[in-house]
Amino acid sequence: MTADLIPDAPSNAVAVEIDKVYKSFGRLPVLRGVSMTVREGEVACLIGPSGSGKSTLLRCVNHLEKVDAGRISVHDRLVGYHHKNDRLYEMHDRDVAKQRRTIGMVFQRFNLFPHMTALENIIEAPVQVLGKSKAVAVAEAREHLEKVGLSDKAGSYPTQLSGGQQQRVAIARALAMQPALMLFDEPTSALDPELVGDVLAVMRQLAESGMTMIVVTHEMGFARDVGDTVAFMDGGIIVEHGDARQVIAEPQHARTQAFLAKVR
Ligand code: ADP
Ligand code: MG
Repeated sequence: MTADLIPDAPSNAVAVEIDKVYKSFGRLPVLRGVSMTVREGEVACLIGPSGSGKSTLLRCVNHLEKVDAGRISVHDRLVGYHHKNDRLYEMHDRDVAKQRRTIGMVFQRFNLFPHMTALENIIEAPVQVLGKSKAVAVAEAREHLEKVGLSDKAGSYPTQLSGGQQQRVAIARALAMQPALMLFDEPTSALDPELVGDVLAVMRQLAESGMTMIVVTHEMGFARDVGDTVAFMDGGIIVEHGDARQVIAEPQHARTQAFLAKVR
């Protein structure tokens, strides 16, 4: 390997540490020893065939699923556990909720509250959960709407918005909680092709602002151009993980090569 092919090792602090994680649903093993490190400011893209465990991994990071074995820590805090007197305890639901607040998540299907306007969707959690005053939350929500290019849609209900606009509101809503980490699970997969670009542009801008992101995506152009690293998952393991451009341009493993040949 020549020197210029060695990926730039991000020198930043560790944001997410996934250590030998196992997870089964009943007798179906879905994660079979997944380890992965994501650094502050890194955009880590997760690619792989349907059913390979990508969503489950993201859900474990966000404590929407509990791991069977292994550990995940986010900003040096174990997800779902805490230390006390040198022993490890499971967190109370209240503390899990607190930890989860620092993590924003955007799903494939826009899950906005249908009976609330875009603005109301965005201010809901900051007011209810963070206890912000309505005036402050509204002012901040307007800033977030501007960031995602929807200043003029504050008063629109989800049904009055396109899928791409709804997804951008969902991003604004996640950002309103001032997350230190953003998880995206195929945020553009359910969108009509002409709406994908606007959502990816918002995500690119977020990446450029320094946000740490884990992005499950089938958009290889995005992974290559915006991703710092790409991990290819298949059958519940990470088969290949490295510099984004390198993994996509010169995959080393036959399984990665076969997958990329299909999605390109
Ligand atoms: P991906 O996101 O890569 O498509 P998933 O993590 O969604 O993969 O799913 C991996 C496997 O786990 C699939 O076989 C899926 O059917 C199964 N699975 C996911 N969630 C559950 C669940 N809550 N209960 C049972 N099986 C599940
Ligand atoms: Mg999935």
